[in-house]
Amino acid sequence: MSLDFSPEELFRYSRNLMLPEVGEAGQQRWRAARVAVVGAGGIGSAALYYLAAAGVGQISIIDSDGVEASNLQRQILHNIHDLGRRKVESAWETLTALNPHCRLQLHDTRLDAANIRDILIENDLVLDASDNFETRLLVADYCWRDQKTLVSAAVGGFQGLLLVLEPGPGNPCYRCLLPQPPLPAPEEGILGAVAGVLGCLQALEALKLLLGRKSPLTRQLLSYDGLQGRFRQVQRVKQPDCPLCGPGK
Ligand SMILES: [Zn+2]
Repeated sequence: MSLDFSPEELFRYSRNLMLPEVGEAGQQRWRAARVAVVGAGGIGSAALYYLAAAGVGQISIIDSDGVEASNLQRQILHNIHDLGRRKVESAWETLTALNPHCRLQLHDTRLDAANIRDILIENDLVLDASDNFETRLLVADYCWRDQKTLVSAAVGGFQGLLLVLEPGPGNPCYRCLLPQPPLPAPEEGILGAVAGVLGCLQALEALKLLLGRKSPLTRQLLSYDGLQGRFRQVQRVKQPDCPLCGPGK
């Protein structure tokens, strides 16, 4: 394969290129990839940093919020100079300073049934780093129906969850795990480092999928207990009566 990376890029990505699992072909795959990240908050900050640093060619960032001081204990894309700015703009500035080779598409909007297809359709892979079940289910339903692989991460308190939803025979969908959104719960605290762990794991899973590798998390749920320092993998199964992927759907 002929490389048309510049000398600066070859040096920048040299530690990627040394990995036999990545190499020149893998770096080309990442550069050709289009990835969407829903949410530029605590999880999204870490995921976006590592996707851009690795050399993903195009990243779409979707977020409808502005930066507030209460975000700064976990949303490390943003700093005190960004207070009051749109999160997508703050994310653009931070990530462009990190890796100007990465093309960033900004969507300062909340995903809904009317706009989700237009925003996500051209992406090869979607990362859900949102903070609410309404968006998670919307993204999961859309990705399943349009055959897009989704890496979904969530955190609360010291706990985190990660799963990969890959539309395909025998694979469970998001609604196999959670058919309906749970009742609204009181807002809870989140330790920034826990969101960071999940964002890093989410980016890593995405980068491996872009290399064409299979993820065991397609049929498992990875849970992280930050207080105990423990990971657990739980098998996920396809539900025969699932409202999204069950028979007749
Ligand atoms: Zn299902």
